Order: sequence, then C-alpha cells, then structure tokens
Amino acid sequence: MTDEAQRQPLLQVRDLKVHFPIKRGIIFDRVVGHVRAVDGVDLTIYPGQTYGLVGESGCGKSTLGRAVLRLNPITAGSVTFDGVELTQLEGEPLRAMRRRMQMIFQDPLSSLDPRQNVESILTEGLATHGIGADRAERREIISETLDKVGLPRWALSRYPHEFSGGQRQRIGIARALALGPDLIIADEPVSALDVSIQAQVINLLEELQDSLGLTYLVIAHDLAVVRHISDVVGVMYLGALVEEAPSDDLYAEPLHPYTRSLMSAVPVPDPEVEDRRERILLSGDLPSPANPPTGCRFHTRCPWAQPQRCATERPELIELRPGHRVACHWALEIADGRLQPHEVSSELVRPTDGDPGVPDVQPTPLR
Ligand code: SF4
Repeated sequence: MTDEAQRQPLLQVRDLKVHFPIKRGIIFDRVVGHVRAVDGVDLTIYPGQTYGLVGESGCGKSTLGRAVLRLNPITAGSVTFDGVELTQLEGEPLRAMRRRMQMIFQDPLSSLDPRQNVESILTEGLATHGIGADRAERREIISETLDKVGLPRWALSRYPHEFSGGQRQRIGIARALALGPDLIIADEPVSALDVSIQAQVINLLEELQDSLGLTYLVIAHDLAVVRHISDVVGVMYLGALVEEAPSDDLYAEPLHPYTRSLMSAVPVPDPEVEDRRERILLSGDLPSPANPPTGCRFHTRCPWAQPQRCATERPELIELRPGHRVACHWALEIADGRLQPHEVSSELVRPTDGDPGVPDVQPTPLR
C-alpha cells in the first residue's frame, strides 16, 4: 500500500446512522421505536484499496453498504465520495455519482432479471447513464466487459438460468464493470457459491482490481474470504465498528473480544494447530438493534466483560496501535493477559415501551 497520509480518500464515512422507524397502529401509524441498523460508523477507503467489512448476519453491514450508495435512507452522518458529499445530492447529480459506485450482490440469480438476456442486462445501465452513442457502440463495450470477466461473447444472447452460479456472478460483476466505476461494493459476493467456485470469483475480483485500479468495499460474514482479499478489515457488531486494522495485523493479533471469538472459529489447515487452538464460544444471539444493550453493546456476550464501565459506558473506537482501532475499554489488559475470560450467561431481554416488537429472549445455560 502507498502512504495513506499522501493520498486523498476515495470514500469517507463519518458518524453514519441508519435508523428504521418501527410503526404501530390500527388506523393511524405511530412511530414507537427505531431499529438502529447502523449507529455511528466511521470508515475511510483509499483509491485502489480493498476494505473488508465483517460481522454476524444482522449486524448492519449490508445496510451500511446500501446507505453509502444512498439506496437506504441516511438518518444522520456524512458520506463523502471523491470529495463530494453524497448526502446532499439528489436527482441527476446523485445518479451521475452512482455510475462511479457500483454494487455486486450476494445472490446472482435473484439480482439478474430472468426475462432479460445478458445483452439486455448489461446495456440497461449504459443506456440509463448515456454511455455509448448507439447500440453498436454499447455492444462493443459490453463485449469487452465480458472478455474481462472471462465469459464468452455468445453469452450475450443467453438468459441467466442458462448459466452456473459462478458464471451468473461473473455477469453480475460485468454489469457493475460496464459502467466504468471507481468503487465497487460487493455484498457477500461469493457466499452463495460453491467453495470450489469462490476462489475463482475472488481471484477474478483481484485481477480486475490490478488491471483497472478499482477500489472495493467487500462485505462478508466469512473471515477467510475477507482475509484473502482485504488490505484493511473492519469488524461490525450491532450497528457499529468494534475493530479496524490492516488485514495482517488484525489476523495476527485481534484486540477486541468479539473479533477474537470470530477468529477462533476460523478453521486452520494444519491439523495439529487446529487441535490445539482455543475456541471462544459466544452465548446467546445478537441482541436486537431495536433495543441495544447499554454501554458496550457486546457486554451481554463478552467473556471479558468487567463490572466497571462495560455496562454503562459505550467505548469509542480509538487507535491503540498504528492503524489499529479498537472499541473496548479493556483491550490492552486483555491483550497482555491481565484480564482472563469468564463464563457468560445470556441476559433476559425484555421489550420496553420503545421496543414493543422484540420478543423475550430466554436465558440459555452454559455448557
Ligand atoms: Fe468486553 Fe467490556 Fe471490552 Fe465491551 S468494553 S468488549 S464488554 S471487555
């Protein structure tokens, strides 16, 4: 990576919040609470970089990706792309910026219209953004794009159901590439594919990045996928980043208890190491983002939670090592072994006036 201090960020997200209202009422809807899907996220991505965003299902990572593209309404905060504040844009200026930021979706079959052939799917975006003077020029652009993603040109006349899962994801990548974007947000780009195909698609994304100078935000729940492709990794828990570091640093020494537990679940290819490695099993489910725990949001499941501060004071994401930011009051004490993990009982979560739709979560005994 080049020196970040010398470069201008391509994407800067500051204190981003996406809250969805919970509405109730028979005749008149009234807002009785909010789901805090994204609740104060800061992240920065430099040109040519790959930022991997990981977390459990429901942690808000996909909502964050869609909010960056303004596909989800933004409650508060700022999203700056190449120096332009996106939250202030509407209409044509927003559409023009969206051409430079494209998305690859998790399920290639449901994201491609089954009634359109590949040529129609790929030219739709070109026509919308006024790229290519006529049909022949657009055909040339998409034919070259098919070459880049490794699909034959005869694919243009075929329909999505005629392709395998990996080929359909290549079509999804081609649709994003055809518009000549600078940033691609890939939301779980390989999780719907066979393991044997996943590596091919990841390698393709890396080759395209090298040849076209693309910048990626890769959203995934699979740490192994993110590790392979990312320069920087951010870990999300319940709507907020809890740790962010250069990929090698994060995998060498995760500092946040949640990252440590995620990392401990990643299989190691060496059977001896695999037999010896420590597993950190979290109790309970992810709490509801409509009724998040007080203080550190992870304290209801954290094996290192302390009586002081954890339940009352929300930790900020602060830089503990160069480029390594962590949101934990006790990260350094945990890292040097001064604090040891303990057993955790799941808390009984009761609905409140502000959260009428969230069911009781009964405590589960520890093994
Ligand atoms: Fe665990 Fe406390 Fe750190 Fe939160 S602040 S991760 S509860 S030790």
